[in-house]
Amino acid sequence: MTRALALFSGGLDSILACRVVAAQGIAVQAVKFVTPFFGYELLAKEEQYARMVRESYGIEVVLRDVSEAYFAMLRNPPHGYGKNFNPCIDCKILLFREAKRLMEEFAASFLITGEVIGQRPMSQRRDTLRVIERDSGCEGILLRPLCAKTQEPTRAERDGLVDRELLLDFNGRGRQPQIQLAEQFGITDYPRPAGGCVLTEADQAKRIAWYYARYPEIRLNDIRLLLFGRHFQLPHGGWFVLGRDEAENARLEALHDPGDYLVHMPERPGPMGVLHGAVHPDDFAAAAGLVVRFGKKMAGASAPATVLFASGGEERFLVAEPLADALFQEWSL
Ligand code: SF4
Repeated sequence: MTRALALFSGGLDSILACRVVAAQGIAVQAVKFVTPFFGYELLAKEEQYARMVRESYGIEVVLRDVSEAYFAMLRNPPHGYGKNFNPCIDCKILLFREAKRLMEEFAASFLITGEVIGQRPMSQRRDTLRVIERDSGCEGILLRPLCAKTQEPTRAERDGLVDRELLLDFNGRGRQPQIQLAEQFGITDYPRPAGGCVLTEADQAKRIAWYYARYPEIRLNDIRLLLFGRHFQLPHGGWFVLGRDEAENARLEALHDPGDYLVHMPERPGPMGVLHGAVHPDDFAAAAGLVVRFGKKMAGASAPATVLFASGGEERFLVAEPLADALFQEWSL
């Protein structure tokens, strides 16, 4: 039986691409690549996710974490960044390369994606698609079932593994053909098109770019920390993260490094903080002032509070007043 490996985003186009090929009697295995920038939360519930995809769309999917390779690429993507910190062309090149490496493991004869020419501004233009194919080493083995008829036949078509006549000729941004095709497959409940990648979100992207400019070594936990909470660059170089609710406080506790300080008010409700890379006493004072500022107000709101800094076995206590907003605005990341 012929096997194909699909790059699966989870969006409608990738679902349809899998189904169009599977409808020809080809065994389709989908792979969804994840990094902290997209899809990472699925790793904690991979089985549940695979079951949902199987039951909803009739597709077998596995997850693959490509964070480390992605972090390295993101520092200097040869094709540059998009509007924010999104390296879309090199992102695709990297994911296609990874998929090509997996072909052997899944005994796949070719790759498929849900791309449609002209659908996205930068990364799905015809010339860009060619560059992505060439630079990922996927020339000839990458089939785009939804727009295959608008392109030269791939090897799988030429070799008769796939019937080109049963592939499609979608083109451009319209969604109607996809919606109709979904109906034909009986797929009514599918994810709406959404960003899904934090590298395209202005605020997050700015913060990630800040981190990349500042740290030569990119660490998974740091990247995960960057993507939630309030962040401050303190005046003497410390990086301070504050949780905004109980769930974020718990995540900060789980993600902090042994070398970081966990910061909170032991005698008053308030946020958890993580202080990273601080050595100057003024940064400790600033962090304490921020914790009190964002802590729950007690009767007599501005009373100073005791703040505990804990790292390994070490504990430090500071008494701090809430920091005035005007003081920390420009530290905000
Ligand atoms: S939006 Fe994000 S996941 Fe999508 S291609 Fe661009 S960088 Fe990659």
